[in-house]
Amino acid sequence: MAEKPVLTLYNTLTRSKAPFAPIAPDNVRLYVCGPTVYDFAHIGNARPVIVFDVLFRLLRHVYGESNVTYVRNITDVDDKINARALRDFGHDIEAGTVSLNEAIRRVTEKTADQFHADVAALGTLPPTHEPRATEFVQKRQDGRADMVTLIERLIARGHAYEAGGEVLFDTSWAEYGELSKRNLDEQQAGARVAVDSHKKNPGDFVLWKQSSPEEPGWDSPWGRGRPGWHIECSAMSAAYLGETFDIHGGGLDLIFPHHENEIAQSRCAHGTSVMANVWMHNGFVQVEGRKMSKSEGNFVTIHDLLETDTFGGRTWPGEVLRLAMLMTHYREPIDFSVKRLEEAERLLAKWPVAEAGEGSVDPAVLAALADDLNTVAAVQALHALAHRASTDPAAAASFRASAALLGVKPKKAEISEVLEAGVESIIQLRLEMLKAKNFAEADRIRDDLLSKGIQLKDGKDPATGERVTTWEVRR
Ligand SMILES: [Zn+2]
Repeated sequence: MAEKPVLTLYNTLTRSKAPFAPIAPDNVRLYVCGPTVYDFAHIGNARPVIVFDVLFRLLRHVYGESNVTYVRNITDVDDKINARALRDFGHDIEAGTVSLNEAIRRVTEKTADQFHADVAALGTLPPTHEPRATEFVQKRQDGRADMVTLIERLIARGHAYEAGGEVLFDTSWAEYGELSKRNLDEQQAGARVAVDSHKKNPGDFVLWKQSSPEEPGWDSPWGRGRPGWHIECSAMSAAYLGETFDIHGGGLDLIFPHHENEIAQSRCAHGTSVMANVWMHNGFVQVEGRKMSKSEGNFVTIHDLLETDTFGGRTWPGEVLRLAMLMTHYREPIDFSVKRLEEAERLLAKWPVAEAGEGSVDPAVLAALADDLNTVAAVQALHALAHRASTDPAAAASFRASAALLGVKPKKAEISEVLEAGVESIIQLRLEMLKAKNFAEADRIRDDLLSKGIQLKDGKDPATGERVTTWEVRR
């Protein structure tokens, strides 16, 4: 077996790049903060999903598919979710036909389904585990880590306290701030606007808060309440990856306070010197040169791009969005624009169609990805390989394996030609052939379409009993 390539990763904890050495090469462990499910995911949410999917694929390639555990949580308890449930089901709740909990369940399930459909279209593999926060609040039958136990432990160890109906983390812990490198003055300045008198330090954050009867809540030693956001990830990462694991990822905006607080909670609860060895953060996403925000009117969801014509007057295939994202290094800010998407689409159109096949990953593509996920160089190497693939079958096989490592799937170029010719009219022609019992010609048409990536499906109209034919693009 070939020697494993050494990955070099940039670590936010140390602010430097270093060779990656997993704690256990037969169980490489990665945690990435997932979505809060109350609304469509926007393209800022798509970036970490795509970036860490490439990392997941790379780790699987290097260490073996069954030797990598990737956990991405779903945050299904949050005040934004409650607000959305009240907005969407307020009438039903008032009328007593739907309970608040039922309304919350409907909001989170619908949004989680939408998220899964969106990220599948972006060509991402499902993570190994996708725990939901609400299932990790109270002690579990299976003994996996839970939030209430973690909070109890933090109180017992003197790192948390009850005050004003809340349980708070005491940020006077000496090592608080190790990830964001914020000093105490900055932390206090940031928090001064909302200094609550019951807090020991202005930066102390909520681990548990009481719920009113109208709010979702769980029984706990501190009364019926609900957890703060940060404690979720400490519980769910420990539940599946242990007290110390290899890589924790997320967007740059999560460094402070979310990841800082995860580290503080986990290290103090477990008495460990490290939560995750490597912390990786992807850069910000802008839209057409401006910060994305609802008030700017440039708030773009993944769903908008895939299914509507709100961005550039057309829909965009998932593979185009994915490639557009990978054409910038993950740590750089990215400007999402129509021009960038068009550029990615032109590039994809030039590449051979990636069918399944045996080939080995191109050394230049692998070397680029091993260098702190340099997807820019990897895409360039892939493009050079695509060029050689037209005349060299070995290069073609290598192209397929390399494209798969990036999760990029070029489409059949002929499909657009077929669509221009009009699949429906070709289907009509075939139906006429079938009626005339010219089966050979009908089959020829069917096979010809299939070779161009269009699969026909014959069925019967239940009303008339007539043959009907539908089609779909076969990948
Ligand atoms: Zn998190």
